Amino acid sequence: METLEKVRTRVYKFGGKKTDGDGSMKPLLGGKGANLAEMSRIGIPVPPGFTITTEACTEYNELGRKTLKELLKDEVESAVLGIEQMMKSKFGDVENPLLLSVRSGARVSMPGMMDTVLNLGLNDEVVAGLALKTNNERFAWDSYRRFIQMYGSVVMGVKPHNKEDLDPFEEIIDALKEKRGIDLDTDFTVADLKDLVYDFKNVVLKQTGKPFPTDPWEQLWGGIFAVFNSWNTERARYYRLINKIPNDWGTAVNVQTMVFGNMGLSSATGVAFTRDAATGENVFNGEYLINAQGEDVVAGVRTPQQITKLGSERWAKLATISEEDRVEKYPSLQELMPELYDELNEYQKKLETHFKDMQDLEFTIQEGKLWILQTRNGKRTGAAMVKIAIDSLKEGLIDDKTALLRIDPNKLDELLHPIFDTKSLKKSHVIAQGLPASPGAATGQIVFFADEAKKYKNSILTRIETSPEDLEGMNIARGILTTRGGMTSHAAVVARGMGKCCVSGAGSIQIDYKKRIMRANGKEFHEGDWISLDGATGNVYEGKVPTIEPELSGEFADIMKLSDKYIKMQVRTNADTPKDARVARSFGAQGIGLTRTEHMFFEVDRIKAMREMILADTVKARKQALSQLLPMQRSDFEGIFEAMEGLPVTIRLLDPPLHEFVPHQLVTQKELAEDMHISLEAVKSKIAELEEFNPMMGHRGCRLGNTYPEITEMQTRAIIEAALDVKEKGIITTPEIMVPLVGTVHEFTEQEKIIRNTAKQVFKERNDSVDFLVGTMIEIPRAALVADKIAEHAEFFSFGTNDLTQTTYGYSRDDSGKFLPVYIEKGILKEDPFEVLDQEGVGQLVNIGIERGRKTKPKLKVGICGEHGGEPKSVAFCHNQKMNYVSCSPYRVPIARVAAAQAAVRESLN
Ligand code: PEP
Ligand code: MG
Repeated sequence: METLEKVRTRVYKFGGKKTDGDGSMKPLLGGKGANLAEMSRIGIPVPPGFTITTEACTEYNELGRKTLKELLKDEVESAVLGIEQMMKSKFGDVENPLLLSVRSGARVSMPGMMDTVLNLGLNDEVVAGLALKTNNERFAWDSYRRFIQMYGSVVMGVKPHNKEDLDPFEEIIDALKEKRGIDLDTDFTVADLKDLVYDFKNVVLKQTGKPFPTDPWEQLWGGIFAVFNSWNTERARYYRLINKIPNDWGTAVNVQTMVFGNMGLSSATGVAFTRDAATGENVFNGEYLINAQGEDVVAGVRTPQQITKLGSERWAKLATISEEDRVEKYPSLQELMPELYDELNEYQKKLETHFKDMQDLEFTIQEGKLWILQTRNGKRTGAAMVKIAIDSLKEGLIDDKTALLRIDPNKLDELLHPIFDTKSLKKSHVIAQGLPASPGAATGQIVFFADEAKKYKNSILTRIETSPEDLEGMNIARGILTTRGGMTSHAAVVARGMGKCCVSGAGSIQIDYKKRIMRANGKEFHEGDWISLDGATGNVYEGKVPTIEPELSGEFADIMKLSDKYIKMQVRTNADTPKDARVARSFGAQGIGLTRTEHMFFEVDRIKAMREMILADTVKARKQALSQLLPMQRSDFEGIFEAMEGLPVTIRLLDPPLHEFVPHQLVTQKELAEDMHISLEAVKSKIAELEEFNPMMGHRGCRLGNTYPEITEMQTRAIIEAALDVKEKGIITTPEIMVPLVGTVHEFTEQEKIIRNTAKQVFKERNDSVDFLVGTMIEIPRAALVADKIAEHAEFFSFGTNDLTQTTYGYSRDDSGKFLPVYIEKGILKEDPFEVLDQEGVGQLVNIGIERGRKTKPKLKVGICGEHGGEPKSVAFCHNQKMNYVSCSPYRVPIARVAAAQAAVRESLN
């Protein structure tokens, strides 16, 4: 066993003459590792290094540090030796030192979620050697203080005492700046930097009780295991939870030669995107800083400069900086280092063409030599995703199937959210302007701390800058506002990934965390005050700004057209009102797959009649109450038929347990007693009678229609009469009447009898007729098992996977919130089965139901109307099961259309 484990390769080298991996090895090398290998293969200059596999991380989680170190030791030492030979320097050497960086890199990128250590290999002796070797004492000490700061927090766990405080290292830096009367880190002298190193080491000792390690190898192993550990931090786990990334993937560790952007004025570092990650516009863009290291650009401490001249001009306009000031203080890389810019521009083009997608890359210029440190498919907003896919198709970079597969259907949701009404915007008061970091419209109440985002229903997380700890709060907040940081700051990148509106770097705003206030435009704003953010312009408004519904237009409409080219299933909607039906049609719904009639009874004027019906003691009294409901239902159905203009409409008979409709408050019970001329006691005792131990499994669904046939009669009458009424207006509709919660064939045939007899009666009365279908929901396991028998009678099946999931798992839909989150957190379940269809279990029943149903009736129409009908993975499953349609809520219709088309494309590619 031991020898076998040793045989497995855990370390892959890149950057030199020999590159072990390639771009296809993401599961093993992580995204960053695989792409570093790939870049090195295609001739992009990457600093040499090696990747420790994701498998090693999983082994580490199982076997622990000691065993893993033993298993890794030989390979790591030999890989470091390889780098030393290539770089002609030595790790830990006093005269000619090699410094390393240690970075995480999971299979899919989790920006900022895991740890990084830079400048590793320094101690009091090596720093002196580095100063001599580079002839740059300032650089050497600057790197050293950065190393202690980063290693101190990442590996040794130094952190602020409480949330209002700054990081202790930053506190020391700020105090020294104040003492010295300087603003920028770059203004520190060598003596200052030496002081910082001294103070930092003391902070480490004081907070952790341990001295800062001086042995470079101890530092390296510390760094490697810290990266492994960072896979399991709370924030990383939360990120995986919201992005549905499995916990057992593990992260790779990339150990790489350090190249330095902080070696003086001919050195720089930056982050670049091959296209605009916020809007999708095809312009190369990004930010850089002279004489800095990577974290300076994202941390937002210094104002980063733009890479291109165009970007710089646009930025200056937003920041209201004059052209002279821009050129003098914030010139673009294109203007400042034109040759290096040209080289970078070449590489970005090459990388995008090679990876055939928008790239997000990091680079460093060390004394005039350009290095690319990483590339990955860039995170983008929903709008950018759609635009980039369509543009890339038009440019011939990808074909139309690939363009369609580039869409993450769930991200389309962002494009379906309300936007600011331009008329209202004109009347609103701008209090500050920042960078349009992530588009969208957000109106909410100010909170200053991430863990307080849930204080208000709509909150705007307002911070000087955000950090990975803020992730959960950022996810909860409506929008994010920061006063520092550029388009590549943590806030901007994370917000874009989440599709959340973000305005970053609104520098004119001052925040006082201790007092919980912000000052903008000469006014004080307190926690809880309303502000609005426009993520498309970077404007911050005072108060609430009204929003309007978005439209399906431009590239979004192009994606829909592309979907129509490949889609095989139909997409219907679940809609209970004409308004919902119209919205769904505007998004391309091809019919209604579920109208829940009970929702119509909850409206104020109807609930009374409904309650009288429920509390009725005799059939006569019940019929009397139902006759009041009839005209209301009929007009509802007419409205829906009209809105759908002849497209198929499935209407389901009453489904929920009756006690949901009765009043539970004394005042309303009294009112009801008066209205019905019965005693309060009688009302109370009837309500008590309706109480059930297990309502989800009680007197509901077709059990109602079978015990109170007059309900089915009334509803059928309303449906058929409405169809006849709209027929007179020229709208021909074929209603599909659906019986809920059927488990035995007789439950269905009894209801069918009532429906057909009632329809016959109405046709006779009206001397006219319409076609209609009678079908059933399959939402009880028994129905799926006897589907062959049910299909002898039912004209269609619609899978109610909400109830089918409930009954298959035996998890109550109403109570699962108590244990499902824990199950998911613990990995007992990978996903919430009420959200993503459980193909392994519930899916078998769906499969059996369809197979048996179609054995009896080969052309049986089959659809799904549970929540899963709008969830992309479940939609793909429905396609594979050869369903005729999926039905989902109106706003999920475009998502389901794309998911269904993607399933068809994937099938055609297999
Ligand atoms: C279902 O059970 O999947 C369904 C659509 O019905 P409801 O959610 O109304 O029970
Ligand atoms: Mg149901």
